[in-house]
Amino acid sequence: MKNNKPQEKYLISLSAPDITNAERKAVQKVLHTPWLSNGKETRAFEQAVSNYIGTKYAVAVNSGTAGLHLCLRAAGISSHDLVITSPFSFISSSNVLLFEGAIPIFVDVDPRTGNIDLNLVEIAINDLAEGKNHKKWLPRKGAEKAGPLRGILPIDVFGQPVDIQAVKNISAPHSLTILEDSCEAIGAESNGIKAGSLADMGVFAFYPNKQITTGEGGMVVTSDEEKFEMILALRNQGRAKGDTWLTHTYLGYNYRMDEMSAALGKVQMGRLDTILEKRAQVAAWYHKHLSEIAEVELPQVLPSTTKMSWFVYVIKVKPGIDRDEVIRKLDENRIPSRAYFAPIHLQPFFIEKFGYQKGDFPITEDLGARGIALPFSNKLTEKEVILVSQALKKSLIQ
Ligand SMILES: *Cc1c(COP(=O)(O)O)cnc(C)c1O
Repeated sequence: MKNNKPQEKYLISLSAPDITNAERKAVQKVLHTPWLSNGKETRAFEQAVSNYIGTKYAVAVNSGTAGLHLCLRAAGISSHDLVITSPFSFISSSNVLLFEGAIPIFVDVDPRTGNIDLNLVEIAINDLAEGKNHKKWLPRKGAEKAGPLRGILPIDVFGQPVDIQAVKNISAPHSLTILEDSCEAIGAESNGIKAGSLADMGVFAFYPNKQITTGEGGMVVTSDEEKFEMILALRNQGRAKGDTWLTHTYLGYNYRMDEMSAALGKVQMGRLDTILEKRAQVAAWYHKHLSEIAEVELPQVLPSTTKMSWFVYVIKVKPGIDRDEVIRKLDENRIPSRAYFAPIHLQPFFIEKFGYQKGDFPITEDLGARGIALPFSNKLTEKEVILVSQALKKSLIQ
């Protein structure tokens, strides 16, 4: 019954959207018009995002997952194609590959950030492109018909962007599609480069726990006109440019965002910088109040990360401490927290399909076993951060 406990049992919520009257008014305004989909709010929201990120195009969709899926279709990645990605992520960055019958080539992560380990990526690319050591990189089963290496899908974990220039440099000789899953990192920068802006395509997500929200929603950004046109068509039931409502050039989807969501998103987008500043302040408070606790490791921000877009605040308990017990004790103290992420390769479906085993990706598994996402939103006060910190200290006495 654990999941059915009322929210009131907690003193603080795990995450919270930041919605003001400006957002409420914008949504209401749409509801006074007959244009609830396919209208100017969507266009305006897309424009706001492409302006901010600095790409030529942006396409709003109804989830981050839908956005990632469309990018793979636009890149022509299909059955048996290989795509390098990491298993330390939210499930959808890998699931979208399976939607198209492509095979995720998992590469372990950098223990400091949880982002894909670029040294391993370089080895994997060279091996796979030259047809060497296939066995080392392919899963035990489910890859009997493995095709060519077609792409790389790095994830900006917890709001810290991958060094995308390095990814480009490594993959350049092999003409791979780079799809950046920036669903956790809108507004973040690596060496001054905005997350999502330099990859062939980048994707943001707007579920209510993200930095900005549209309820459900996502956004693809790209500067590639051909991919942009294809993503537009596939979002809209496969209608190519010039098609009528009942002409469908491609096999498409209904991945459109509605106008209420877009109106909400546009106002949130205008407030993004303020929202990110507040989140950085909350992260700084956590850092201050947790740094003296010897039993935990705090999130690391690399020097190359010139701007964090704090999505969650994930600490690690030191090796030997029972993480799940700490979560249980926090819960008893009316503080919600969550194990985050759960390694993708150990999800039942991935074990069944690809034969993964414990120990296959030790860093991912270690992070997955020791991480705790603490309550985090830009509405938290320093007092509340202190409350969580004290509860954590108590919960660590085992
Ligand atoms: C949130 C998220 C997504 C997309 O989630 P949706 O719920 O489909 O919007 C994708 N990848 C990562 C890493 C995420 O955190």
